[in-house]
Amino acid sequence: MGACCLKSRAKTEGRREGYATRRPEQSDLYRLLLDHLETFFEGYDHRFQPRHGYLRPEARRALEEFIQCGVLRFALVRVRCRDCGEEALVPLSCRRRGLCTSCHQKRRLVWAEWAMEECLPDVAYRQWVFSLPKALRVYFRFDRELFKGLSRIVVDELTRYMREVTGREDLEPGFVVWDHTFGTLPDSYHPHPHVCATDGGYLPDGSFVPLPRVRTRDTEALCELLRHRVIGWLLKKGKLSEELAGSLLSWGHSGFSLDATRRVAAGRRDRLEELLLYMSRHPFIAGGIHYDAVSGTVHYRAFRKHKGRDTDTISVDAVEFIAMLAQHIPHARKHQVRYYGACTPEVRKRLELSGKPLKIAMPARTAARGRRSWARLMWKVYGVDPQICPKCGGEREIISVILRDDVIVKILDHVGLPSKLPALKPARGPPIQPAAQQATRSRLPLHFEEDCFVDPEYSEFDCIDDEPPETDGTQPTQVGENSRPPTDLLELVNHYPGKQLCWASDLAEDDGDKAE
Ligand SMILES: [Zn+2]
Ligand SMILES: [Zn+2]
Repeated sequence: MGACCLKSRAKTEGRREGYATRRPEQSDLYRLLLDHLETFFEGYDHRFQPRHGYLRPEARRALEEFIQCGVLRFALVRVRCRDCGEEALVPLSCRRRGLCTSCHQKRRLVWAEWAMEECLPDVAYRQWVFSLPKALRVYFRFDRELFKGLSRIVVDELTRYMREVTGREDLEPGFVVWDHTFGTLPDSYHPHPHVCATDGGYLPDGSFVPLPRVRTRDTEALCELLRHRVIGWLLKKGKLSEELAGSLLSWGHSGFSLDATRRVAAGRRDRLEELLLYMSRHPFIAGGIHYDAVSGTVHYRAFRKHKGRDTDTISVDAVEFIAMLAQHIPHARKHQVRYYGACTPEVRKRLELSGKPLKIAMPARTAARGRRSWARLMWKVYGVDPQICPKCGGEREIISVILRDDVIVKILDHVGLPSKLPALKPARGPPIQPAAQQATRSRLPLHFEEDCFVDPEYSEFDCIDDEPPETDGTQPTQVGENSRPPTDLLELVNHYPGKQLCWASDLAEDDGDKAE
């Protein structure tokens, strides 16, 4: 059986309805990276370092591993239907943050669902977006720690404001803060926090006090307060000189802005989820990238036009475009999202202890958090379940995970899928190092054994970057701490009962099939 089933499978791939393995090699982003990634690496220090800082290892890895993500040629998993024996090949994914839109999409769906279930009670919410003038943005690019301080300041001022307008000093609002470094277009570095705040707060007895309508003059006054606090804070941190701080405070048009126009009413969990997905969005949309290989130019169109800008498109040289994307790849071991007040377990627990549990609207659909699997998310978003056999509706299981190059080539050749290794084009233009000419696979780190595991369909939780939980008193949680997936392949395979890891033996089986 084995590979023959795979063969028929490959033939029917196109006709099958519902879920089909994606083909990342065909995307514009993939093609432009193949053509220009080496040039980008070679020329980085000379061309981009002065503007963007050194090329961070995590950015390099995200770029390199994107080439492998979802491509069967690098690693594959064989799955088989328990009932009818139908087989399929599934690739591994990179699970890196900030570049791979496919992996990011999984993370944000998982995160939004988790936040809805475990963090955000069913009350009204408001999004607050605080922007800084251009003169201050550069400090954030080179000191990632500043994001934490900035979100603390914003949360403090919002809490103070809410206590003032409700007249309750003991009011406890809740906040989820996302750090953004990009606007609607990825061309500039634009650090600003997106805050999802309860539109009101909790009293010690657990009752919720809604906020009165937020008026324009409230946001203007708040923005002015924030302006003074941020400038004072950066001055204290030694980022600004007295002169610059004074001049920033004297500007008539400050360059700071605070937006609070997006509100989600209580009971509208669908709208809240939309807001969370918006806050956790990717720096760019893959569908907006159009790569012209002949001229080496990228045309990018944003998902919408930003009110402050006169265009929603950019056309740049492909290498320049890669640099634009690389600057938004998150720093390693730094959280992009933080929780405060009534969104932290401590405060929730305290409020629950007072006798009136917070109402979390969505009951945990499954007892174990670990069941929040990619398969279920696929079901939720696309209405198809990749763990179910499309032919007979039976359940599919993993039968082997194949990393050996020769085995992969044999299997792909056998089923008629492309088995040629995607080749990176050598760097062009000065400065060319001789080594760059032969950089194809040697450049690509095949670290799957260490830190990659089975693709979407079968990974339980897509949490990467083994970040330690940030301890800041108010933000002890990190998404899915208890539901971390197994991080090495053997563990992964053990995670799925009833299959074995077939290395060379797998090859023998395939050979047998071929002979028939
Ligand atoms: Zn089946
Ligand atoms: Zn990926």
